[in-house]
Amino acid sequence: MIIVRLILLGPPGVGKGTQASAIVKEYNIPHISTGDIFRSNIKEGTELGKKAKEYMDKGLLVPDELVVSIVQDRLTKEDCVQGFLLDGFPRTINQAEALDKELTKMGIKLDKVVNIDADKEILIERAIGRRICKTCGSSYHIKFNPPKVENLCDIDNGELFQRDDDIEETVATRIEVYLNQTQPLIDYYKEKGIILNVDGTRPIDEVFETIVKALGDK
Ligand code: ADP
Ligand code: ADP
Repeated sequence: MIIVRLILLGPPGVGKGTQASAIVKEYNIPHISTGDIFRSNIKEGTELGKKAKEYMDKGLLVPDELVVSIVQDRLTKEDCVQGFLLDGFPRTINQAEALDKELTKMGIKLDKVVNIDADKEILIERAIGRRICKTCGSSYHIKFNPPKVENLCDIDNGELFQRDDDIEETVATRIEVYLNQTQPLIDYYKEKGIILNVDGTRPIDEVFETIVKALGDK
């Protein structure tokens, strides 16, 4: 059994969630998506969900103090012993430093930070056409990755919906926020020698193959 501890880094709409689903299947590791955690809290109407929604609807980052402890708790769960994939976390240098501290405490190290990138026009087109399953959160695209039956999830037949923050104006804000607050993480992890750059403009299967090949000799 190989243990893989990964981060997926990249701007909104680049394909992190899509790749994450395939990668966690391949390596049998848990998919930890902070965006998914917030969306399920919003759906359940929790206090955390209420607070997070205010920021998410504007395309802004949820404050670090609301995010970091959730991830710290999640990483100590039994299933993370086999490795894990973090999707959408860390998003600020402060979050990355908090993660480093937690991993050091746990006596483990990251294997790779998979950095997927594409130009702004592509990101906007992908995010605006994205549709999500109401029940399982799987992501589709009306043009690039349509479900077999219109508006229904291939996996569980759940109804598909458009995220509140996937409208053009909010996507543009999210891309700006990414450039200002998250992109600096590329250099942060480059210095640690664990960045893997992947061209996110390629088709879904090709991006996946590139990642698995590169991780083969992690
Ligand atoms: P992220 O998690 O980075 O925001 P998603 O994985 O949800 O991105 O992908 C955003 C949208 O783009 C989805 O509708 C998805 O189906 C589509 N998509 C993902 N990867 C690709 C790709 N390589 N080519 C075309 N469309 C893609
Ligand atoms: P995308 O996949 O399109 O980048 P996510 O689902 O990862 O979107 O995130 C959606 C929203 O959730 C973000 O715009 C932000 O408001 C919030 N969020 C998710 N992860 C984090 C995080 N690590 N730090 C702060 N905010 C976050």
